[in-house]
Amino acid sequence: MTNVLLKVEQLKKHFPKKKKGFSKTTDVVKAVDGVSFEVYEGETLGIVGESGCGKSTTGRMIMRLLEPTDGKIYFNGIELTSLSKSEMRKARRDLQMVFQDPYASLNPRHTVEQILEEPLIVHGIGNKSVRKEMVKEFLQIVGLNSYHAKRYPHQFSGGQRQRIGIARALMTNPKLIIADEPVSALDVSIQAQVLNLMKRLQEDLKLTYIFIAHDLGVVRHISDRVGVMYLGRLVELAECESLYEEPLHPYTKVLLSSVPIPDPTYQKEQILIQGDVAESLPKNGCLFQQRCPFATEACKTIVPELKEVKPGHSVACHLYDEPQQ
Ligand code: SF4
Repeated sequence: MTNVLLKVEQLKKHFPKKKKGFSKTTDVVKAVDGVSFEVYEGETLGIVGESGCGKSTTGRMIMRLLEPTDGKIYFNGIELTSLSKSEMRKARRDLQMVFQDPYASLNPRHTVEQILEEPLIVHGIGNKSVRKEMVKEFLQIVGLNSYHAKRYPHQFSGGQRQRIGIARALMTNPKLIIADEPVSALDVSIQAQVLNLMKRLQEDLKLTYIFIAHDLGVVRHISDRVGVMYLGRLVELAECESLYEEPLHPYTKVLLSSVPIPDPTYQKEQILIQGDVAESLPKNGCLFQQRCPFATEACKTIVPELKEVKPGHSVACHLYDEPQQ
């Protein structure tokens, strides 16, 4: 698991925000602000954080469904950020996306067969009869039946629809799948089924995943490594066990303290923080300073950079090794 399949360097997405009143100047919202990471072949990198932290924007920029403001993305040795739109369309054969809301992402007027055939047509794969056979095969791969091909999305349950979304992403035999909150809209029992399906497919088809979610419990179930995002920046990145057993960033600790544990006798210490992410952002220093119970003067002036502090474990915090944390 050492080959780097995807490399993201200093990725940024700034959206203009019109100022109130008569001012003609515009502010920017830094949805993603200098995110760098690598994804190794065959692994699942989980990306977690609260709503608005930039995790979905990051996923969409990798697919170039959103154009980055700055930064570079390398996939399988090719710089995606330098490709033309038509070159990028071709590159998408190897990297596909699974979306949160399978109903919204499946055309309600198309049969499942038409939905699954579409990526094959776009990429010029097979003739009509080959494509029909592939549709049947992939329906079976995701645990559906070939007779489902003639049905429409509304005739399926939420879990089945997400299986169709996964089948559509698999049709072009991609190397990387970016799954953006793929189980958030599903009941807990169905979530486990879809996660198990994704794990099985990863092994069988040698897939690499970026798994984006707000739920740390779900991410733990499937990820090899996990990156935690806060207000557009990556604040911690580590192997799954290291992150969940020994989190170093105060924000990660807060997130973990609110994950339910399925043991009623276990009393977990709940870490409380001030405010919410919608408050005005500090101009200097650490973005978490207003909510962090450990903030010092240095935190108000010096931006903590993400740095590796243990093998495979990086954190962006001045006080990551202070005992009071
Ligand atoms: Fe808290 Fe300072 Fe660390 Fe930011 S750098 S998380 S404010 S201790």
